[in-house]
Amino acid sequence: MTHTKQLQLDKIRQKILDDNVCPELATGATQLVFGDGSAQAEIVFIGEAPGKNEDLQGKPFVGAAGKFLNEMLAMIEMRREDVYITNIVKYRPLDNRDPFPEEKQAFLPYLLQQLDVIKPKLIVTLGRHSMDVLLPGLKISQVHGQPKRYKGKIYLPLFHPAAALYNGAMRQTLIDDFAKIPAIIKLI
Ligand code: URA
Repeated sequence: MTHTKQLQLDKIRQKILDDNVCPELATGATQLVFGDGSAQAEIVFIGEAPGKNEDLQGKPFVGAAGKFLNEMLAMIEMRREDVYITNIVKYRPLDNRDPFPEEKQAFLPYLLQQLDVIKPKLIVTLGRHSMDVLLPGLKISQVHGQPKRYKGKIYLPLFHPAAALYNGAMRQTLIDDFAKIPAIIKLI
């Protein structure tokens, strides 16, 4: 079973390459950044798109935002290996620009397949880009930290760690929202 889920994820990764998703992005990127962590995870975190470090290492959230994410995981006594981390857009946009709506839509089917394989209890969106595609029509400033049930899945929208990193008030809000995760998981 353990094995099967990872194999299924590997197939989705290969499908993104075979389907030539967002060829312009792919051309500008070093590699596809598909996801990292446990295929058995109860929690999946979804960010925006790889940055420079992620593009070079082939793993999501390994730069400054990733370090902050790791610290918040430690705060709730979890490790990266216990969760699964990915992004809505899986190639680094040049110059770290925001992903275009059509790029997010192009990658959405593959993200949904990842979620179908892992079947986490809780999906944590980091920032507005992953929230917009999974929970359309919400405003992050209004709904951050509030669990939402939508189309049979349970979500927790959070601020993006990179946005919160250098903004004292947002940083504390993100930490406080993050600290709710264990209680939410227990309730599900
Ligand atoms: N920011 C993201 O949204 N994703 C990453 O993987 C790294 C930084």
